[in-house]
Amino acid sequence: MKDVIIGLEVHVQLNKLNSKLFCGCSTKYHDSGPNTHTCPVCLGLPGALPVLNRTAVEAAIKVALALNCEIAEQTLFYRKNYYYPDLPKGFQISQYDYPIAINGNLVIEGDSERNIRIRRVHMEEDPARLVHKGPIEKSKYSLIDYNRSGMSLLEVVTEPDLRSPKEARQFLNKLRNILEYLDVFDGYLEGAIRVDANISLAGGARAEVKNISSYKGVEKALSFEIVRQKNLMRRGIKVVQETRHYDEARGVTISLRTKEEEKDYRYFPEPDLVPFKAKDGVPKIKETLPELPDAKRRRFVEQYNISEHHAKVLTSELKLANFFENVAGKVDTNQAATWIADVLKGELNYRGLGIDAFSPEHAIQILRMLEKKDITEKGAVQVIRTLLDEGGTPAEIVKQKGLIKVGTDVIARAVEEAIKENPTAVQDYHAGRNEALHFLVGQVMKKTSGKADPDAVNKLLREKL
Ligand SMILES: [Zn+2]
Repeated sequence: MKDVIIGLEVHVQLNKLNSKLFCGCSTKYHDSGPNTHTCPVCLGLPGALPVLNRTAVEAAIKVALALNCEIAEQTLFYRKNYYYPDLPKGFQISQYDYPIAINGNLVIEGDSERNIRIRRVHMEEDPARLVHKGPIEKSKYSLIDYNRSGMSLLEVVTEPDLRSPKEARQFLNKLRNILEYLDVFDGYLEGAIRVDANISLAGGARAEVKNISSYKGVEKALSFEIVRQKNLMRRGIKVVQETRHYDEARGVTISLRTKEEEKDYRYFPEPDLVPFKAKDGVPKIKETLPELPDAKRRRFVEQYNISEHHAKVLTSELKLANFFENVAGKVDTNQAATWIADVLKGELNYRGLGIDAFSPEHAIQILRMLEKKDITEKGAVQVIRTLLDEGGTPAEIVKQKGLIKVGTDVIARAVEEAIKENPTAVQDYHAGRNEALHFLVGQVMKKTSGKADPDAVNKLLREKL
């Protein structure tokens, strides 16, 4: 989609830090009651003074380095002034014209590799969370939970380099992947990521869709916008520049008719926090950077001699990559890659489970049984499914379900029987009809309850016919 221009502003909550951005309140509020993780600073009480969390700054620099950004020599915080019930002090502490990092990039792999430029990364505090009773438009009242207030947010702003909703999603997946590798972010927690997406079609004005809170939502909202803007253009109606809200339940975007501009926020430097030199910390932080997804992918291909595709799937989550490395040392690496990336990952996805739900020990046991040809591939899939659905151990399941592969003598007997019982198929086979062989293989498999190795059956049938 050459004529589609998309830029993203991604708000990432650094929810794995221990304390909030400007106070000592714990960030582990997700299982606690409302307003239990608060203090005068994050409640925005008059006279409360913010103290910058050093670990949050280090985490921000880590992320910026992983996104190949230039770190600012000197950076500072601003007050972004607006009033909203989730922001009781009337301003949000954010960054403005001296963000902590600029000019980065991130490569996404779709059909081909694409370089997406990152304009800036800046730090800010998260506002509180509004909880509406029922659907927002019918809600009689709203409640405010200040547990989220003051959490460290990073805003990652891209250049308008994305060309389709799918690319926007690929960008978000890759960003999430990097953040999880850096161990600063848990993408599964509420409010972990919120996206504002700018989108325009060639020749039209830009719409900004605000506050989309899921990866799928971003792709859907952008797809909706493309159709909406195309329809307007087709009918000769001008697309106006505006801010829109994405209604997740209905899958549509709605005009908010608010047109805030930068000047409306009356940015001015936060007088309670001093400017600081971000770049000074870089050399030390660089040493702590872990191996990132792209580097790990290249290493997997080289070290384990597995396909690019498998390496990509296996490094798409840090936990999955660790799982693979745990298993790969003990069995054939290619077989391990195939079974983990293609089969196990598929079974987990189908059940909405993560790799934590499966033990590497069990994977090793199953792969060894396959290597020794004790079970068939079909049997191995059955073991995996049973482990996920009912639990147990591979050895128990193989025994209970009678999955031990039948020996050659049993196969030979079944082959002989199948030939004797199906003379027409045998004739057809000799007449050159290949489907007759498939039929006979099927008969043998039936006689052995699917526990014979199909290759061995095939080979023996050809010999005997
Ligand atoms: Zn606090």
